[in-house]
Amino acid sequence: MNMNTKNKEKAVVVFSGGQDSTTCLLWALKNYKEVIALSFDYGQRHKKELECAKDITDELNVEWHVLDMSLLNQLAPNSLTRTDIEVDKEAPGDGVPNSVVDGRNMLFLTFAAVFAKQRGITDIITGVSQSDFSGYPDCRDVFIKSLNTTLNLAMDYTFCVETPLMWIDKADTWKMADDLGGLELVREKTLTCYNGIMGEGCGTCPSCKLRKHGYNEFLTRYKQ
Ligand code: ZN
Repeated sequence: MNMNTKNKEKAVVVFSGGQDSTTCLLWALKNYKEVIALSFDYGQRHKKELECAKDITDELNVEWHVLDMSLLNQLAPNSLTRTDIEVDKEAPGDGVPNSVVDGRNMLFLTFAAVFAKQRGITDIITGVSQSDFSGYPDCRDVFIKSLNTTLNLAMDYTFCVETPLMWIDKADTWKMADDLGGLELVREKTLTCYNGIMGEGCGTCPSCKLRKHGYNEFLTRYKQ
């Protein structure tokens, strides 16, 4: 990957304001001449996610849109959308954590594709990763490839769903943000914590543990 050449035209980034999608947004800005960030309001427990997404896109001067996906909460209530359902303290050894929103990535990517085609854009970027697969079936490469084919058939259009983080772990995601000059931005401005605390987060929820573990591993692997 040539970091200095914007050799591609336009992309839509599925953007939550978290670590992964912010890293993808930075990646997109290095590789595409025009980037649009797309967020989804699905009644997530923490509206702060959308505030973070707004602040980051403002800072990076990226066009940003929010689509209303509140029906997702109606269909599949879960611990990330309902305050009356507690998030699992520990990620289960196997099986699906209760923070899964069934079909979320499929719906988001499908809506992103409709949006992209309207704008004449083929490339859609998502921060899903199979490497730290924690029970989310729609983060797997096989699903993305399958959906890409389905979207092409559904809309008679040639989409390209790009997944820059698919095969790298959290430590290398930090490395990518660092290489793209966005380490501090990702550290300070993103929200991944299930308890809605920006940056370092609460430190105890599964998402914070994963993030912190990855950051420490990044320091060990690349900064010593
Ligand atoms: Zn947390």
